[in-house]
Amino acid sequence: MKTLDFKTWLEQLNALNRGQKDRLRTELERRGNADEVIRLIEHDLQEKPLCPHCGNTQLQRWGVSCKLQRYRCRQCRHTFNALTHTPLARLRHKDRWLPYTQALIDGASVRQAASTCGVAKNTSFKWRHRFLSSPARQKAGQMHGIAEADETFFLESFKGKRQLPRKARKRGGKAAKRGTSVEQIPVLVVRDRDGATADFRLTGVGTREIEPVLGPLLAADVILCTDGAAAYTVIAKNLGVEHHPVNLAQGVHVRRGAYHIQNVNAYDSRLKQWLLRFHGVATDYLESYLGWRRMLERFGKDILPGMCLRAALGKERHFQQVTAT
Ligand SMILES: [Zn+2]
Repeated sequence: MKTLDFKTWLEQLNALNRGQKDRLRTELERRGNADEVIRLIEHDLQEKPLCPHCGNTQLQRWGVSCKLQRYRCRQCRHTFNALTHTPLARLRHKDRWLPYTQALIDGASVRQAASTCGVAKNTSFKWRHRFLSSPARQKAGQMHGIAEADETFFLESFKGKRQLPRKARKRGGKAAKRGTSVEQIPVLVVRDRDGATADFRLTGVGTREIEPVLGPLLAADVILCTDGAAAYTVIAKNLGVEHHPVNLAQGVHVRRGAYHIQNVNAYDSRLKQWLLRFHGVATDYLESYLGWRRMLERFGKDILPGMCLRAALGKERHFQQVTAT
């Protein structure tokens, strides 16, 4: 806009009524957000140009679409932008992405996030799983020092499914059977004293189920602490790692000061407490929620919407200290 036109345009602002002014303010804020989102998305590609198709670094600019710079690879000749091959590719309304990640930080429900971000409920649902798909895969790849392992259980839930594979439980119902039953989904949580965390949805809690996921996590010099379930004793022996079972059933909580599973247990209880707000988590999406929680814990109190957005893109370096599985 020419300077003179802009001046005339500004003078007209006085003619706006209160509602129109509010709308203008909101609109400006949204557009500002979209610019910030573009900056966060394009940051890496500008720092280090790389073709997502073949890894070549010789790129040429190929126009702009939806505010994103398009590139063409000189080697494979495919075109792409900074969102290509990320979980957020082709999602619309970029101006709402930062408010949406704030809703993730706040632990908002699908409905709450939809209302605060001004998107439809279905969009909010779709976004949640797209935004969490990368965090769900980012787990600690290796434990160091003392690693605590323990299982925790989640009630199986078919929430949101039209066809139930079995009769629905009464609202707020408990598992039909006590303890471990077919209705309880076991999750193995492993955490070292630096806070590196990995969790795995299991099909059972025997050696056969635990060893394949626990084994690759444990460096040879790791010291494993568990509740002393027989499976861990076998696994530790198989892997040749030092193992300190803590027999909680006999009232033993700490052995020789350092050997306990209080960190992993505290993590489990924070996770469960935080999950209460969702009134049951669909088992199909359990891993998204586990990743969501890991992300919040990893960033801690310094968490910012931009960090979550970059984690959603799989580009947050701080979050990548833990390797993707
Ligand atoms: Zn290429």
